[in-house]
Amino acid sequence: MAPTGDNVVVSNMKLERMLSMKGGNGEASYVNNSQAQGQHAQSMLHLLREILDGIQINPEADIPFVVADLGCSCGSNTIYMIDVIIKHMTKRYEAMSYNPPEFSAFFSDLPSNDFNTLFQLLPPYGGSSMEECLASDGHRSYFAAGVPGSFYRRLFPAKSVDVFYSAFSLHWLSQVPDIVLDKRSTAYNKGRIFIHGANESTANAYRNQFQNDLAMFLRSRSEEMKRGGSMFLVCLGRTSVDPTDQGGAGLLFGTHFQDAWDDLVQEGLITSEKRDNFNIPVFAPSLHDFKEVVEANGSFIINKLEVFRGGSPLVVSHPDDAAEIGRALANSCRSVSGVLVDAHIGYQLSNELFSHVESRATTQAKELLENLQFFHIVASLSLA
Ligand code: SAH
Repeated sequence: MAPTGDNVVVSNMKLERMLSMKGGNGEASYVNNSQAQGQHAQSMLHLLREILDGIQINPEADIPFVVADLGCSCGSNTIYMIDVIIKHMTKRYEAMSYNPPEFSAFFSDLPSNDFNTLFQLLPPYGGSSMEECLASDGHRSYFAAGVPGSFYRRLFPAKSVDVFYSAFSLHWLSQVPDIVLDKRSTAYNKGRIFIHGANESTANAYRNQFQNDLAMFLRSRSEEMKRGGSMFLVCLGRTSVDPTDQGGAGLLFGTHFQDAWDDLVQEGLITSEKRDNFNIPVFAPSLHDFKEVVEANGSFIINKLEVFRGGSPLVVSHPDDAAEIGRALANSCRSVSGVLVDAHIGYQLSNELFSHVESRATTQAKELLENLQFFHIVASLSLA
């Protein structure tokens, strides 16, 4: 049973109605703090192209080729990746001397995503053949649409999508497990706002939530995918077997961010209970956590499943400038968790919190730059 009181804002307010990356184009917006994700995705392009090469081409079918990005957010990374996928498929058709089909791209995310900012970044439609697109540089060669909804449920008609792409999204849980917020439970995450370094029951509750969510995701996609289609998934992952060691995600949310929450408690700005009821709904799975779910689901063949070294989430122009690194960490953290923090403690205290993150990170800048590294699980799956 969920606890009562005014300290459980996030769990009671159904996460999926409020979760989003920070919209707009301000300093801490996702648009301005997602270069690292873009670079990490580009370092995996060879793996994506490998799976695209395995997709069945049906030149006789007079229907569009459909690509969907799940958890597209509002930055330009999604537009870049959709473009890569469609250009690659167009070349494949042309290499086989077939006319490419029309392409349809669906940009999907939770309803609270800043779709307006995303749509404004979209180049205008410029034709369906490679020649037409090359001739009209800066145009897109596909029809675009936004699809609001949680990827843990059905989003598309049955057998309608050729390629699913999802990057840096599946580590977001559908909710903080109720027992993690229940004071009477051993899984109550006392003193912490993330599972990094938490007790075993808390971490297991998170792992169960991740596995149940992933199972729902796979069930929905197995219905929506066209036969011969494929899915390319990338999410935060960890190399340790122990889920309380969340690796890069642990450093991002479990050190300076955690300390900044403790600062607010010590300064009397929030109660310790208020802090304890805030939990980042992220879980970085191990390869084993992920594989167990795919195998139990049984609808997909695993073409590839590996842990990939992603790199740092901090993109800075002066690596010796501690202040810039501190700011980059605070902005990076705020761009992904700021909306939840604002909802929990309000905008003013949220400003206070992230300025603590910034000053704490500035004093540890060198260590951060050396140690903050993300690992990703990369999975490429086709229907069995
Ligand atoms: N793919 C983008 C954005 C990653 S940010 C990139 O590569 O830059 C993670 C995104 O996942 C956010 O936009 C968030 O709103 C979305 N997300 C989290 N949980 C989701 C869910 N249950 N359903 C759909 N989208 C979700």
